[in-house]
Amino acid sequence: MIDLIDLRHELHRHPEISGEERITATRIVKYLGECNPSQIITDLGGHGVAAIFDSGQAGETILLRCELDALPIIETGEPPYRSTVEGKGHLCGHDGHMSIMIGVAQRLAKNPITRGRIVLLFQPAEETGVGAPAVIADEKFKAIKPDFAYALHNLPGMPLGHIGVKSGPMCFASEGLKISLFGRTSHASHPEDAVSPMKALIGLIDELTNLPAQLGIEPDHALVTICHASLGEPAFGITPGDAILMAAFRAENDALQAKLIENAAQCAKAYAEQHGLSSSISYDEKFAACDNNEAAATNIKNAAENLQLPMVRIDKPFRWSEDFGAFSAAGNTALFVLGSGEDCPQLHASNYDFPDSIMKTGIDMFEEIARKHCG
Ligand SMILES: [Zn+2]
Ligand SMILES: [Zn+2]
Repeated sequence: MIDLIDLRHELHRHPEISGEERITATRIVKYLGECNPSQIITDLGGHGVAAIFDSGQAGETILLRCELDALPIIETGEPPYRSTVEGKGHLCGHDGHMSIMIGVAQRLAKNPITRGRIVLLFQPAEETGVGAPAVIADEKFKAIKPDFAYALHNLPGMPLGHIGVKSGPMCFASEGLKISLFGRTSHASHPEDAVSPMKALIGLIDELTNLPAQLGIEPDHALVTICHASLGEPAFGITPGDAILMAAFRAENDALQAKLIENAAQCAKAYAEQHGLSSSISYDEKFAACDNNEAAATNIKNAAENLQLPMVRIDKPFRWSEDFGAFSAAGNTALFVLGSGEDCPQLHASNYDFPDSIMKTGIDMFEEIARKHCG
């Protein structure tokens, strides 16, 4: 069986971005094969892979999930196993998460479960938010629909090897809105003949930023980030005739998020009409909120206690999103965080690197959690 640190470095050297994880999936199938699972499912919701460890006895189906994809970011760190693919890097630690999951497979091979089934899911395209919904929509998922699903994410800024979890909202929902405004250009010397979206754009930037407050939502529960705005062309001779505004919306649960998005769309439409513009809205990178099931979160807490691992108290949900939220609809789920150290660069930073020293803790946690259900 492969050494897990060697495996992590091998994965790190060969990053593949969302939807392109073909070779990574092939590698994973190879190493999973060494662990004698009952079945391996491939091409799940894209390049996804699932290994089923079936006790042959009645019991629950427990899914443990990790991610296959890397990011389209140039790695500036210089580990000896630096990315060999220009412009792409494992800068979210999914190489570490995959190695942890192979570690779990190795433990299950050595010491098989006694009831139910454990499914180890290597999910594609987490970073774009399309992977989890695609896996769930895949016909092949019906055979592995879990009673409980668990995931972890490493977390820079949190002490090394510490565990954090809470029940209820754990990660915000998020979605991007692209608002296009269309008016009419004119010569810059005759702005009165144009229908410029300038005032609508300025108004919308302000209005959307303040939308949570206007809806009476506490600042801790939702936020809007203006990510991009453009108006007309970079030329002095033209009064602008169109504009684009891109904003990211986040809320701690899906209902609040739906309210926020609906109001933003109405607001955009109203501004366009008021200024004699036509408009269109497109939606992208939709992530459901991660809502931690109470029993599952308690199981995670108990696992950390049994393993005598240090825990960090988490009172509020994280404002970042995880497409693991999509699994909430398919069963009871919980996501926990594993500290990657106070000095670790942030996720998606160009010099980020998953700390190998927390790999064993991740494996111990998943094994403890899963064996509670499956022996
Ligand atoms: Zn990421
Ligand atoms: Zn990630």
